[in-house]
Amino acid sequence: MDERFSILFEPVKIGPVVAPNRFYQVSHCNGMGYRMPRALAEMRRIKAEGGWGVVCTEEVEIHHSSDLAPNIEGRLWDDEDIPALELMADAVHQHGALAGIELTYGGHHAANLFSRSTSLAPRSMGLDGFNPGQARRLDKEDIRNLRRWHRAAALRAKQAGFDIIYCYAGHNLALAMHFLLKRYNNRSDEYGGSLENRTRFLRELILDTKEAVGGTCAVAVRLAVDELLGDEGITHQGEGHDIVAMLAELPDLWDVNISAWENDSATARFKREGFQEKYIGFVKSLTSKPVVGVGRYTTPDAMLSAVQRGIVDLIGAARPSIADPFLPQKIKEGRIEDIRECIGCNICASADELSVPIRCTQNPTMGEEWRRGWHPEHIPPKKTTAEVLVVGGGPAGLECARALGARGYQVVLVEARREFGGRVALESALPGLIEWRRVIDWRLGQIGKMDNVSLYPGSPMTAEDILDVGYTHVIIATGATWRDDGVGRHQWKPVKGHDLPCVFTPDDLMAGNIPEGHILIYDDDHYYMGSVLAELLLQHGCQVTLATPAPLVACWAEYTLEQEHIQRKLMESGVEIFTQRLLKEIQPGKIALACSISDQRSQIDADAVVLVTDRLPNDEFYQALKSAQAEGKLESLRVIGDAEAPNTIARAVFSGHLAAREFEETPSDGTPFRIERVEI
Ligand code: ADP
Ligand code: SF4
Repeated sequence: MDERFSILFEPVKIGPVVAPNRFYQVSHCNGMGYRMPRALAEMRRIKAEGGWGVVCTEEVEIHHSSDLAPNIEGRLWDDEDIPALELMADAVHQHGALAGIELTYGGHHAANLFSRSTSLAPRSMGLDGFNPGQARRLDKEDIRNLRRWHRAAALRAKQAGFDIIYCYAGHNLALAMHFLLKRYNNRSDEYGGSLENRTRFLRELILDTKEAVGGTCAVAVRLAVDELLGDEGITHQGEGHDIVAMLAELPDLWDVNISAWENDSATARFKREGFQEKYIGFVKSLTSKPVVGVGRYTTPDAMLSAVQRGIVDLIGAARPSIADPFLPQKIKEGRIEDIRECIGCNICASADELSVPIRCTQNPTMGEEWRRGWHPEHIPPKKTTAEVLVVGGGPAGLECARALGARGYQVVLVEARREFGGRVALESALPGLIEWRRVIDWRLGQIGKMDNVSLYPGSPMTAEDILDVGYTHVIIATGATWRDDGVGRHQWKPVKGHDLPCVFTPDDLMAGNIPEGHILIYDDDHYYMGSVLAELLLQHGCQVTLATPAPLVACWAEYTLEQEHIQRKLMESGVEIFTQRLLKEIQPGKIALACSISDQRSQIDADAVVLVTDRLPNDEFYQALKSAQAEGKLESLRVIGDAEAPNTIARAVFSGHLAAREFEETPSDGTPFRIERVEI
């Protein structure tokens, strides 16, 4: 290890417990929660194995009246929930790490869709997330009950084996934070009015928890010290500062960040490493207790600097620990170049938002540790001396070649372009996406260490070439091409005028073929591409209008917590936006649209249109090779990534990894992973 980094491996005392080092996996959701406790325990265990000194749960509901359905979080409603969480605490302890648990009472954020309980809030107010209905104003008896429930949950958490027990007042997701907020708390009793009164409930939770478990467990507070709402909310120079000052020595640990979740987990498109320092930096000056903070730290220098400058004592990480569960160990072993750095895309967050098991663009094993038995650092060795030809060096081909190489196979990876990386090489050059290059860089770095993987850039192959070179195991990863005819989710036949010279695709723009003048982007893709191309065109001096059949710009980016950031940025940049509009016809200089609800027609005068619609898989020679395989000329043939079915980069990486793991395995009709079924 580089001795400079030894500071990161110093133990840190947190109340009655000691963290073995400064690497702290803060709470993060994962879509597995109470429904997949074994999968969850194994995912967390691997983080501890990889050197994280503290490994925390996600939000854990303390009571059925704090039910976060449809999201799948942790549950500690009653004693029956203890064994599932015990699995995780035990798993984390196997490697000497501490286990932390974030107890939460969601208030009006918990719509109680599963339990059908009445939600509770400081005042009668609408439920979060556009849910119909309101939460009931808490009375004194409710507050007494709540304190009792939190205390009982803390005792259960202790029984389950947790070392650090949280009082959660972060992200605008927890009642303890709702009490703090002027805009939610209009009470005239001792829990409302002055900041001291609004802090009373959080203070009581901390004291109750300490009294219940403080002798053996550390009691932590997770607090949002700024909401980026100015005077409407908590700010780090205002009430955020004053709350920490009031409670400074009360908890054993301060875990501080910004709110809401979309600000805390801002994507790389909007925020850089260490972006929270200016908000949380004041906390250490007010308390002698250890402080943990996050900021998508992936580089040891930035981590070290944050500790040395007195910003934090412990490096908090959710996404960096998802992308690389072995990040601490790699620093310890002096293998910095092996760190698989998070690209800040929030595909991981999308899984929680969609209530499916967590996944990660960079780490295809994330969420598959238990159900498929995948480990991020180990892969079963090769079965035979078979040699494999992988055609196409995008994320799918690169990951497939890397993982096959790690298994010990002889691999040849051919790529038509002079540069590897496929769509990632092109997309990472678009505004705000530079960190996505890490998908390529890490894989090329790993492959560079392998003698058994040969790279051939600048080698466009045909089906005949492939048969001529004599490889009998072929994996096709030739990607996809954006459609140029307007066919997409909302359009099943080519749009009139699509063959005019004023029609462009994302591939055209990424190849440097940029139109001029007033450009209409028609976005029927609904993720990042339409908005990123809008930014690109603005940079080139174009006037930009964006039309989409969806009710919001970049609709799917809601799940990656980016939608509002994206739409705001476009609006602030002067992009004119039309939602719920279908593309009807393209003519030189004008484009006809129709309202997707009423069919009312409108026209936009534009010099060019960019169609961000469906993609076509580049699978022609996969189809050609299929017949060669049928004739016995190939032993195995597989198509992966976008060439199989265009999707996210995360899906391409996963597809490449899966193909490498399944190489020379006998396919079965059975479900290829374990399921945690309810016992009958
Ligand atoms: P994926 O996301 O599935 O990895 P990409 O489009 O990112 O797909 O990458 C596919 C890569 O395959 C591109 O870099 C492309 O240049 C390359 N490719 C496509 N056709 C051929 C071919 N015939 N021979 C070699 N490489 C090819
Ligand atoms: Fe980072 Fe993206 Fe992986 Fe999340 S999915 S950990 S943001 S690389």
